[in-house]
Amino acid sequence: MNPNYSSVESIKDKVVAEESPHTVDKPEEACGVFGVYAPGENVAKLTYFGLYALQHRGQESAGIATFDGDTVHLHKEMGLVSQVFNETILNKLPGYLAVGHTRYSTTGSSRVVNAQPAVIDTRLGKLALAHNGNLVNTAALREELLYQHKLVTTTDSEVIAFAIAEEVDAGKEWLDGAISAFRRCQGAFSLVIGTPVGMMGVRDPNGIRPLVIGTLDSDPQRYVLASETCGLDIIGASYLRDVEPGEVVLINETGLSSFQWSQQPQRKLCIFEMIYFARPDSVMNAESLYSYRMRIGRTLAKESYVDADIVIGVPDSGIPAAIGFSQESGITYAEGLIKNRYVGRTFIQPTQTMRESGLRMKLNPLKDVLEGKRVIIVDDSIVRGTTSRKLVKTLRDAGAIEVHMRVSSPPVTHPCFYGIDTDTQDQLIAATKSVDEIAKLLEVDSLAYLSQAGMLQATQQDTNNFCSACFNGDYPISIPEQVKRSKLILEPSPV
Ligand code: SF4
Repeated sequence: MNPNYSSVESIKDKVVAEESPHTVDKPEEACGVFGVYAPGENVAKLTYFGLYALQHRGQESAGIATFDGDTVHLHKEMGLVSQVFNETILNKLPGYLAVGHTRYSTTGSSRVVNAQPAVIDTRLGKLALAHNGNLVNTAALREELLYQHKLVTTTDSEVIAFAIAEEVDAGKEWLDGAISAFRRCQGAFSLVIGTPVGMMGVRDPNGIRPLVIGTLDSDPQRYVLASETCGLDIIGASYLRDVEPGEVVLINETGLSSFQWSQQPQRKLCIFEMIYFARPDSVMNAESLYSYRMRIGRTLAKESYVDADIVIGVPDSGIPAAIGFSQESGITYAEGLIKNRYVGRTFIQPTQTMRESGLRMKLNPLKDVLEGKRVIIVDDSIVRGTTSRKLVKTLRDAGAIEVHMRVSSPPVTHPCFYGIDTDTQDQLIAATKSVDEIAKLLEVDSLAYLSQAGMLQATQQDTNNFCSACFNGDYPISIPEQVKRSKLILEPSPV
């Protein structure tokens, strides 16, 4: 029997944890980065639309820095891309090179001073840096910096920017200085860096976070960098290729040049990008993530079939896997939950009465679809379980006579240190409870997760090419003890 499977006969146990309907019971993405180099064009608007497409990667703040010769124009604020920028602001950001960022805070608190791009002065002029990922040696690198006193934020991104500035101020040119600084960084970093003489795109030696290169009008002088291909599509740029792990590309008036700066690059793309974080229309490994997510749904159906009347997905990210599950199992796919598409993040807290009356911010059940039905509900992940339990209750209240939950990822047992906010280990429901126990807590008739082998084989790539540490604790980049202790609360300390 699949160890990730549980069938529950009686439902007695009570869940202790409660939460606000606003609390997001999902891992949170770190950031989206974007850059354009297009001599002769004003590129702020292109950057705005690029960030707009990458909004799912971070909703706390947004920023754009443009280079107009040696002058840098910067605007960054708390809020969504559409709230931070308008026509008037974009018109005040002239220039042919832009670096853009949309942020969810994984290092440093959520304050405007921590918003990106980070713009700092160097001997050779200003640099603007946008970062996606998390360093694991931030504290040590901070200590080493001669420019420690100049740090004004609490982010690892600013530490990288100052590490580059130090190398440049010590006499190196931009590229050499940047490479020396990258070699001092450990962890996950996909960077877009603007300088007065060109733009750089960089990935860490493991390529944990994605970064792609596109061309504008297939013109070898005009390039775009983006966290995902959906950032290229929105502005009509053509996908050229990925920035490779341990590679830096330099884009300037002579075109694009590539340098491998790491001695030991390896592919360890975050598998959660494929399962959940990245947009389904983004392309990774030469196919849309929609296709991958359908395939893991099919695998899930093979691994944990259960007889039912309908299969539904949790909008939006559970839907491709639910369709795959339906296709494989032959059980009819239906829409059972409707998402309010205009709910972004709200900062207004509901009253206690609203909470008690079951305020449904995001998902509303379709009673006539669910009533009297045995329902399989497919979700992409369970982190703390609080939202899943509410969803199950919603389905039962709407008349479902059986609720079977299927999860298109394995149990999340370990926290992420590479730029995804998955809480400390003790808050991850699967770190302390068996699948049977979770099923009881969620009050489902049965619960099954995708196996790790199923998740990796469905990529149709070498299964070693991915980080899947949050499912197995096998971290591809070693984590300093002090950092480990901050999140790996359940692991034994070394003696
Ligand atoms: S630990 Fe998990 S979320 Fe973090 S990079 Fe690895 S697979 Fe992605």
